[in-house]
Formats: sequence, C-alpha cells, structure tokens
Amino acid sequence: MRFTVRPGCLMLALLGALSAGLPARAAEPPIRVGVLAYRGGDHANAVWEPTVRYLADRFPQRGAEMVPLDLPGMDAAVAAGSVDFVLTNTGNYVELEARHGVTRIATLHSSRSGASGAAVGSALIVRAGRDDIRSLADLKGKSVMAVDPDAFGGFQVAWGAMLTAGVDPYADLKELRFSGFPVDRVAFAVRDGAVDAGVLRACVLEELAQEGHLDRAGFLVVGARTEPGFGCALSTGLYPDWPLARLAETPEDLAKAVVVALFQMPERHPAALAGGYEGWTVPMDYQPVHGLFRSLRIGPYEHLRDVTLLDLAREHWHWLALAALALLWWAVHSLRVEHLIKVRTAELRAANRELRREMAERRRAEDTARERQKEMDHVARLSILGEMASNIAHELNQPLGAIANYARGCTRRLEAGVGSAAEFAEASRAIAAQADRAGQIIARIRDFVRKRAVQLEPADVNGAVEAALQLCEGRARSGNIPVTRTLAAGLPPVLADRVQIEQVVLNLVKNALDAMDSPADGKEAGEGRSVTVRTGLDAEGRVEIAVADRGHGLSEDARARLFDPFFTTKPGGMGLGLSICRTIVESHGGHLWATDHPGGGTVVRLVLPAAEEKVNAG
Ligand code: ADP
Repeated sequence: MRFTVRPGCLMLALLGALSAGLPARAAEPPIRVGVLAYRGGDHANAVWEPTVRYLADRFPQRGAEMVPLDLPGMDAAVAAGSVDFVLTNTGNYVELEARHGVTRIATLHSSRSGASGAAVGSALIVRAGRDDIRSLADLKGKSVMAVDPDAFGGFQVAWGAMLTAGVDPYADLKELRFSGFPVDRVAFAVRDGAVDAGVLRACVLEELAQEGHLDRAGFLVVGARTEPGFGCALSTGLYPDWPLARLAETPEDLAKAVVVALFQMPERHPAALAGGYEGWTVPMDYQPVHGLFRSLRIGPYEHLRDVTLLDLAREHWHWLALAALALLWWAVHSLRVEHLIKVRTAELRAANRELRREMAERRRAEDTARERQKEMDHVARLSILGEMASNIAHELNQPLGAIANYARGCTRRLEAGVGSAAEFAEASRAIAAQADRAGQIIARIRDFVRKRAVQLEPADVNGAVEAALQLCEGRARSGNIPVTRTLAAGLPPVLADRVQIEQVVLNLVKNALDAMDSPADGKEAGEGRSVTVRTGLDAEGRVEIAVADRGHGLSEDARARLFDPFFTTKPGGMGLGLSICRTIVESHGGHLWATDHPGGGTVVRLVLPAAEEKVNAG
C-alpha cells in the first residue's frame, strides 16, 4: 500500500525547499519512507501518515510517499532500494543496519519514553486472576503466545528477559505460539484462555484498552516493574525507540534535510500526536540491542548459532591443548609400554628357547648318563663274575661231578648185573636233582649278567643277600673262609631293583674275601678269617645290610679314596666296584659307607629306605 502526499500550495513548497536548504528541482521522485506496519496497513496509515505528510509539506517539490511494509517487505524494500528512508522498530533497524548498512539519523522521542529516552520493552500478560504466574520464572511449562519471532518488543526483548529468569521459551515452555500481525490477536488469545500468557510490546496493552478493544482490568502484567518516566506496564528493561534510518544510497544532503525537518517539527504537531510521540531526537545508542541480539544469537548474530569446529577450538583452545598434551603423553606412554612389552617378550622367548634347549640337553645328558650307568653296571657285573669265574666253575663242578659219579655207579651195577630197579630209580632222581642244581646256578648267572633296564619293585633284601652269597660261596669255600649270615626276620621290603641289590652285596662280599685273601699295604689279614653278613633295621626304620670281614682293613689312603672311581690296591683291580655300589645305593635313596671292624678288618654298611608296602607276613 502506498500513500502519496503532494501539497498544492506553492508558498509552502518554497518554504519547505528553503528550510530544507535544497535547490528546487522539478519532477524529482517523492521521498519514499518505508514504515513498519506492525498492526496492519490501516493502523500504520493512521499513525504515520501525518508524519509523512509533514515531510511532504517540508519538501513540496518532491513530496513524500509512505510505504507501509511488514518485516519481510521491509527487508526486501531496503535490499531493492525502493525506499529512501525506513521508519521501523528497534530490532528490525539493528538487523537492517547489519544486513544492508542502513544508518539511523534520528530516534523517535515518544510520549511514553522513559527518562532515559528509551521506550521499547515487553509486557508479558496473563488473564487477571492467574495467581500461578507471578514472575517470568513461573512461565516454565506454560503456553505462551507472541506476535512473531522477529518482533522486537513483541517477542525478542521478552525472550532475553525470560532467558535471564532461567526460562528458555524454546525449551522450557509447554508451547510457544506465534499469532502473526496484528498484535491484538495475542491479547485476545490470552483473554480467551487459548494460551496462559502473551507477549506484547510494552504500551500495546494500554493502547488496545484505550482504543476500546479490550478491558485493561482483565489482564495482569507478569513480573511488573517500573522505569522512571515510563508510563506503561512492563516486564522487561527498556530499549531505544524506533529510529528513522537512511539507506546507504540515500543522498547525504537529503538525509540531512529530512533530519532538520523532523527536528524542527513543532511541539504537539498533529503528526506527533497521531504517531503518539513528542518529537524526534538525536539517534540513540542501539548497542544494548546488539547485546541482546548477540545473547539471543539472532539477527546479525544468527551466525553465532552455527558454531564451527574452529570457533569451538578458538573458544576452548586451552582445554584442547591440554587434551592434545594428554593424548601425546598417552601415545608416547603407549608406544613405550608397547616397546617394553616387545623387548620383554623377545627376552622371554629367547629365555624360553634357551630353557628348552637346556632341558633337552639335560634330558640327553641324563639319558646318556643312564645308558652309561646301565653299561657300567653290566660291565661291573660281568667283571665281578669274571673274577669269580673259577669259583663258579668249581661250583658247577660239584653237581656235574655228582652226576658223573651217579652215572658211573649205575653203569658199574648194570655191568655187574646187580642193583634193583628201585636203586636205579633213586640214582636217576639224584642225577636229575644235581642237574637241576647246575641249571639253577647257570640261570642265576645268566640273570645276573643279563643286560637289562632298571626295574624298581618291592624286593626282599634277605632273598637278594642269599642269591649273592650263593654266587660266591664256592670262592669262600675254596679259600676256606667261613661266611656267616645273620638275617633279620620280617624285614619290610625295599623298593629296589633286586639284581642291583644282589650286585652290591656280591661286590661287598667279594671285597671282603679279597681283603682276607691277600695282604694289602703291608697289612696282614686279620686272624680268624671270616665274613659276616647281617641284615636288620636301623634306628630310623631303614633296612640295613652290613658286610663285616676280618681282613687287612683300610689304609689311610683307602679310607679317603675308597669310593673314588678307579681307586684300587689290587693288582688287576679296576677300582670301580665300590663307586658303582655307592651310585646304585644312592639312586635307591640309600647310603653306603665303610668303618673299621673293632677286632680288625672292615665293616661296609648300606641302608635302604623301606618300601611303603609291607611284606605280607604270610
Ligand atoms: P677293586 O675291588 O677293583 O679294587 P673296589 O672299588 O671294589 O675296586 O675297591 C677299591 C679298593 O678299596 C680296593 O682295591 C681295596 O683297596 C679297598 N677295599 C674295598 N673293600 C675293602 C675291604 N673290605 N677291606 C679292605 N679294603 C677294601
């Protein structure tokens, strides 16, 4: 809607031109003033037309044209340059200033302005009787209506005040509605109970009441406060009133002339009365409006909502630096730990390999040692048997001789034709018995020298002693040495390889016989030559075998080196017997040692731990 004023009076035109200091030029386009019609075109016409007419009167050669515009229209008109000046609300001005470079040249001094000259604020209204909403904070959870999100006094000022009171209208309300212009709708919605509260530019309520549109007494203003000199009910602070602003392209001299014209408006001029203002004053400071918009992040500060990562980084750089340092520390620490783990793992692997290698080596060494021990045992058994071969042969000779005698006796009797069948049968039985005896001797020898793996099982010590003695009895007899045995009855078995125990006993008895056979180191064999073999239990419950002889005894040297391998005092001796015996006894968990016989000679003893299983006495 456009409204053009062209005065017909030449005198007035001349006066206007003179007072404006402008050269009179014909056919210039009228001065176009864009006016924010926040309550519709009619209202805008009624309020602002006299002011525009006043300007038209002051610029008769151009005239003046009023262009009522809503908020988007205002922006479009300024962008298109289709107006020379804009008369708009405070918020819209700040936005146009930022977006299109408009500059305020005067601020309205309204009749309702406070002492500071500021005149725009918001009133939050509720229906009279709503005791539950007394302060802005009480609006939490309520429904609120405003005219438009872009309305300055009609919403944005209230928005800022609500945020300060801790209520975000976009988050904390039950509902936020915008009615659109005209603002009357907000008041009616509150009156009709369609919403709990409404936002109005301060003084609109009073204006509507004055115009008879509603009953002022039907409303309460929430958190009502006063500003010195400001006559309307108010819920917020005050901001500067509407400015008149020129567009960037509006000529400077025209702007100056318009300002002069407005400043010269006489008091109580009809235009001022119609516009509800007292006159025009120097442009006020709109920085508080910028502050409000910045805090709301709207208008020219809308971009603040689009916070970029860079903005965040700038704002929180110290935290980021700290986080980066922590990250760096963590990364370095992790790398270090990882490195240490790698080094340690490599070390452990190497140690493991080395351990496995050592274990394998040890196992091999043990296997080899076991094999050697077995070989040595075997050799020792062969050797000892070799030494006693003549005696064993002698031993065998006895049954063989007996067999031959029986056979010859039978032959003689047959040839002489004497002898009964019973006598021959008796002789045959005797032959068979002697052959068995010879067979047993051979079997024992075979058992003794057989190459075999060690077998641990509960063994009867007395039995092993008897078997050993049988192998060397011939030798003792031929040497005329009595061998006595004192074997304890009911001995517990020992967990042992019986052949090895026999081997040990045989060795000890052979040594005992040797010691009485020949003098060694000049020592004569003891008188009353004899060998005694004893078995029994020692104080700790171990099975003991003692071989005592009355031989030449032990020299100092022999005492010290008795069990050393290859120590021997015998011509042709190997010096391995006792060393092997000790190894065997110790491998059975036992102990072997030698002492002097009190009556001359030597006692060699060994103890073996009893097996857990007891021999069944039966
Ligand atoms: P070897 O019988 O081949 O000499 P041994 O190891 O059986 O090997 O004996 C080592 C040495 O210990 C003997 O040469 C002997 O000097 C001494 N010895 C062993 N038993 C007796 C003993 N009963 N009385 C005296 N000396 C002994």
